[in-house]
Amino acid sequence: MARRNTNLREMDIASHLHAQTNLKAHETTGPLIVAGGEGCYFYDDSGKRYLDMHAGLWSLSLGLGNERLAEAAARQFKTLAYAQTFGHRSSEPVIELCDALVNLAPVPMSKTMLQSSGSEANDTAVKIAWYYWNSRNEPGRRKIIARKRAYHGTTAVAASLTDLPHMHAGFGLPLPGFLHVSCPDTYRGPNEGESEAEFATRLAEELDATIRREGPETIAAFIAEPVMGAGGIYTPPDTYFPKIREVLDRYGILLIADEVICGFGRTGSWWGSQSYGVQPDMITSAKALSSSYLPISALMINQKIYETIADKSDSVGVFGHGYTYGGHPVCAAVALETIRIYQEDALIDRAAGLDAVMRRHLEPLKDHPLVGDVRGRGLMWGVEVVADKQTKKAFEPAQKVGARVSNACFQKGLNTRAVGGHVLAFTPALIVTEEEISTAAGLLTDALDQVEAELKQEN
Ligand code: PMP
Repeated sequence: MARRNTNLREMDIASHLHAQTNLKAHETTGPLIVAGGEGCYFYDDSGKRYLDMHAGLWSLSLGLGNERLAEAAARQFKTLAYAQTFGHRSSEPVIELCDALVNLAPVPMSKTMLQSSGSEANDTAVKIAWYYWNSRNEPGRRKIIARKRAYHGTTAVAASLTDLPHMHAGFGLPLPGFLHVSCPDTYRGPNEGESEAEFATRLAEELDATIRREGPETIAAFIAEPVMGAGGIYTPPDTYFPKIREVLDRYGILLIADEVICGFGRTGSWWGSQSYGVQPDMITSAKALSSSYLPISALMINQKIYETIADKSDSVGVFGHGYTYGGHPVCAAVALETIRIYQEDALIDRAAGLDAVMRRHLEPLKDHPLVGDVRGRGLMWGVEVVADKQTKKAFEPAQKVGARVSNACFQKGLNTRAVGGHVLAFTPALIVTEEEISTAAGLLTDALDQVEAELKQEN
């Protein structure tokens, strides 16, 4: 292949359309080229090492360089590199993975559908909700209720479930029929003197009022992340999901748990649904399912949904949904090996145990002048920077203070990300050590000090 340009940086600028990037800025900034890594560290093409406290995109749960996963992929490539799942076809790793997931599910689930990304799984969950209600002769049930600040992915449907401004701006999204109710932001959400339980009840009442206003006969499903991730890492009050389920049951509305981040140990349980009492009808997962070594996602549906859509597919002739790469045997083999490692090395219990370590190292940051809140569970923590600790006033988005802190961290060799604009994500691999957590907390403190000093100088 003739290379137009031998300089990787120039080639990237010339030919690579980047995801979730300011495209214009990229023309001058250029790429950070990640060249390799081991465990919780990666290094760039200049050899500089970074401690990755975001685990890729909260996904690289076993860290880099896991030999068992590489070998599982190699073995499967040699046995059967590809088989499809249309028209009754299957393959051994796909069957084993679907079975393993149904057995691991936090509530009884009936069937698993494998695809390549979290967005596809959520898109499919919405289509199945529509198919379900059509099959039950309630075709008017089309609307989906999600939550403000949710992130559910990037396909047109998944981005419509999402409620982050940059995911809609310029695309003409959300599509009609996607609604968003308040999220359980326990930092700013509760009114003066309101307990978390009262706040949860108020959110459930808001959902109830929204359903009645729209007409229950128009609502198909409600979707939620057990712990909201990209919107700002919000852990819900313990009574929140049970209250939400009560409201949904009143109107027969389906509940989809988006476990794309929380699934496989992130909150210290196999599923975020277990940590927060979610009783879903459908579950989507991806990311840590394969430790993101290969692209794979799973959608699980319960028996009630399965029976209904199976009858419909019989009358239509076929269940008209599926992807070329859905149920890819190599991705499935790697996911199976990932799950085996979680089990054999008791990594989910390890994540639960590291909750106390994260707490011990991060909670002191609450005393920092720039930090308004530190919250999380298991290995999913956020440190929120604020303009005013007393009033909880946020920095102006244009000041980009969250991004400045994460950039300062990066200069110091720590990889994190400002999610929701101003919440520094601390979501390391499940194999992270206490020493790495301690190092990371120290580097974050240094970065906060640096940005605080810069802000003082600018004022
Ligand atoms: N749901 C949640 C909760 C996510 O965080 C993400 C990705 N960050 C997605 C869905 C979409 O997953 P993917 O990027 O694999 O499409």
